[in-house]
Amino acid sequence: TRRPVLVTGGAGFIGSHTCKLLAAAGYLPVVYDNLGRGNRKAVAWGPLVVGDIRDSEALQRAIGTYKPLAIVHFAALAYVGESVSEPAEYYATNVGGTIAVLDAARTNGIDKVIFSSSCATYGVPEALPVSETSPQKPISPYGRSKLMGEEIIRDYAAAYGMKYAILRYFNACGADPEGELGEWHTPETHLIPRVLMAASGMIAAIEIFGDDYETADGTCVRDYIHVSDLARAHLKALMHLEAGGDSLSVNLGTGKGISIKEILDAVGRITSRPVPVAYKPRRPGDPAGLFADPSLARERLGFMAENSDIDTIVRTAAPFFGLAPASMPKAFGATSTVSRVKR
Ligand code: UDP
Repeated sequence: TRRPVLVTGGAGFIGSHTCKLLAAAGYLPVVYDNLGRGNRKAVAWGPLVVGDIRDSEALQRAIGTYKPLAIVHFAALAYVGESVSEPAEYYATNVGGTIAVLDAARTNGIDKVIFSSSCATYGVPEALPVSETSPQKPISPYGRSKLMGEEIIRDYAAAYGMKYAILRYFNACGADPEGELGEWHTPETHLIPRVLMAASGMIAAIEIFGDDYETADGTCVRDYIHVSDLARAHLKALMHLEAGGDSLSVNLGTGKGISIKEILDAVGRITSRPVPVAYKPRRPGDPAGLFADPSLARERLGFMAENSDIDTIVRTAAPFFGLAPASMPKAFGATSTVSRVKR
């Protein structure tokens, strides 16, 4: 019998990849998702309960039915730009929804919670790499909503005897190396999928927001971490809490910054397609460089990114855009090409 874990937002990008891994590790991922941004087809490793995290009664029913031992709380809205124009939605879902999830945990005796946080909680970093002791001064409603979620979890944990793992993702990307899952945000605003869309002709060109930054090649530098690595960090965090480990708040990144131009080069080289580029002005709120000090996750969880080199990221993500690289990366031990794509 597989041990049940409630996965809010389990139909989303990072949530679905984590469910696949949890199932392989012997858990039953029970997905709780309103399918607002998630995809029903991404739920394939356990039951799907369609519900909103703000609906306390529906949450209670799901918990009563499945009796999960922990909650992995991914469900959230996650577009920085949209959070500026729709802050009410962001606070209602990301803060109000998180309180509802925590209350459902507390009143049902669930004392382990894993929370999706973000490097956006750091705002514009004062120094690089960004360690967990860096000041958290978010500059968007999205970043503030995630920081509020963190603070509420820490208060609940202190008062109600809960243990938590707060995971601050840097730039999630890539896709399931077996081709069963991918990145399918609607609308898609993230850099790597949009570069692949440009290479496949789905959009006329990739717009690059600024090439006059104080970086080596003038484009922004970010810490791109493969979604399969992120999924593995969640599994490690869950096992850590199950083994009686202490609460923790850690960065999930590679520690290595990659520029936009390096990504354009990798996509062109791996897909053998031209990548049409249109240079545009800077996007407000973008720091020039942002990458993690990943050492605390290694110390506390034994976690290190292993499949986050740019070639592996592009090779696994490309098939979703009709771009098949010659073979899958060796890092995953895969020998066959992608046969099945769920979208
Ligand atoms: N970016 C870009 N064109 C796009 C999307 C993103 O130039 O169509 C840039 C963006 O300005 C940032 C980097 O790519 O410097 C990563 O952006 P993304 O939105 O993927 O993630 P973020 O770092 O904002 O979380």
